[in-house]
Amino acid sequence: MAGRSRLSFDLDVDIAVVGAGLAGLTVALEAARLGASVAVLEGRHIGWNASGHQLGTVMPGFGLPIGELIARIGFEDTRELWALSREGAEYVRATASEELIPGIALSEGALEVSNVEAGDQLISRLQMLGEDFETEVEGWQVDRVRAELKTDHYFHGVYYPKAFQIDGCKYVHGLAALARRAGARIFEDTPVVSVDPSGIRKRIVTPSARLRASHIVLAGNVHLGAPLRRLSETLLPVWRYAAVTAPLGERLAEAITFRGSVTDTDGIDHFRIVDGDRLMWASPETTWTARPVRFAGAIQRRIRAIFPQLGSVGIAEVWGGAVGQTVHGMPQIGQLRRGLWVASGFGRQGLNTTAMAGQLIARSILWGDERWRLFSPFELVWAGGATGRVAGQVIGMWERGSSAAAGALARYRERARVQERIREARLAEANRQAGTRPPLRHPPPGRPRPQRTRPPANPAEGEGAS
Ligand SMILES: Cc1cc2nc3c(=O)[nH]c(=O)nc-3n(C[C@H](O)[C@H](O)[C@H](O)COP(=O)(O)OP(=O)(O)OC[C@H]3O[C@@H](n4cnc5c(N)ncnc54)[C@H](O)[C@@H]3O)c2cc1C
Repeated sequence: MAGRSRLSFDLDVDIAVVGAGLAGLTVALEAARLGASVAVLEGRHIGWNASGHQLGTVMPGFGLPIGELIARIGFEDTRELWALSREGAEYVRATASEELIPGIALSEGALEVSNVEAGDQLISRLQMLGEDFETEVEGWQVDRVRAELKTDHYFHGVYYPKAFQIDGCKYVHGLAALARRAGARIFEDTPVVSVDPSGIRKRIVTPSARLRASHIVLAGNVHLGAPLRRLSETLLPVWRYAAVTAPLGERLAEAITFRGSVTDTDGIDHFRIVDGDRLMWASPETTWTARPVRFAGAIQRRIRAIFPQLGSVGIAEVWGGAVGQTVHGMPQIGQLRRGLWVASGFGRQGLNTTAMAGQLIARSILWGDERWRLFSPFELVWAGGATGRVAGQVIGMWERGSSAAAGALARYRERARVQERIREARLAEANRQAGTRPPLRHPPPGRPRPQRTRPPANPAEGEGAS
């Protein structure tokens, strides 16, 4: 395509980055700023996948809930990882300034709402985040949440005043422009077909060129493919779809006064107002690729379920992208063998985490900063290939379905206090919604589980990767 530069000649660089998504571009920008010669090789175009289709919400933390992180690696290491994730968010804030990326439209504040009445859990979470993890948070009571979001779907909320949102697409292209300005070279339409990471100078082959580099950073996410297929197979690809509505006028302002991003604690819905009176909304997920337009109706129905007063909303545009979900829920950041690095598996929360990864890897290569080793407990675990995808879809549907059912039940309980007479009918309805499948005591067979074995010192060698 016109305007894209493809690698058609042989090249020697310090660092070769595979993939021009958020992860690869941040590594490239940081490494170039620190003085390395950098080439980014992108098989399609900048931001082609998830990075060019995200909603731009920047939060601290990871996709994995903080309690699970503590259970897995202990309190002190969790604190350090959490601090890194906050640094990642601060990096995005510093980079996403109007001076560096014009039109980035940064706005403040994000709200995480609960689908169930869980005030007691909220208080302990607030204390932990505020006191132990130095994260500014406010607890919102149900009334406050419902004053801002006029729906009985949500209960308590955690407000993050320092979280923010940006124009996600502008950000990824802004990163590319900044990386180029810092001296990195970015080649599009340049798929990497093989890597040979042995030797001091590593080799990369593309259809029309060969490249040699001291370090290779694999930031191809779920599409990495041939260069290191065993690595791709440690990710479960999950396609997430989002839409923006047609202008909704005054009715939107009446339904939603909150101006930041809203996510629910079960990771089902994620939305915010854009362009004054449109809703941007992400929700449906699949473990196979599908045409995003197919999900317009599902998103419409989801909006209607949460905000029925909006009536029928027109959908102006639908899009989607594949996120890479690891079995343990944490990103893959680190050195697989000398000079071969990985930055992937960022899941649904990729803005702060890719920024963190980019900084960690560039600083490790160029300054010897070893903090990426905090991620070593999260080894590369096979995600189950095609079987894993089918199981993942079933489990995803089950989890989302049971969360929705839990929310329905909580709403039922609240109403039951004032409408005792319809109690039985509501319960029956909640059970009908929840009861398409009986509750599971154990995960269904086939669910990919984290392996408990210690990772080899060099996971790529352990996996037999070349
Ligand atoms: C609908 C949606 C909404 C989201 N909203 C948010 C949000 O609001 N906030 C947030 O924090 N996160 C959000 N995310 C998650 C976030 O987008 C991802 O975590 C992040 O973009 C992952 O970035 P990446 O660079 O790892 O991967 P990718 O964006 O997939 O980039 C990888 C690139 O590598 C290239 N590539 C792969 N293999 C090769 C190869 N062999 N040779 C050359 N190139 C190759 C691909 O073409 C691709 O361009 C959202 C995701 C989706 C889908």
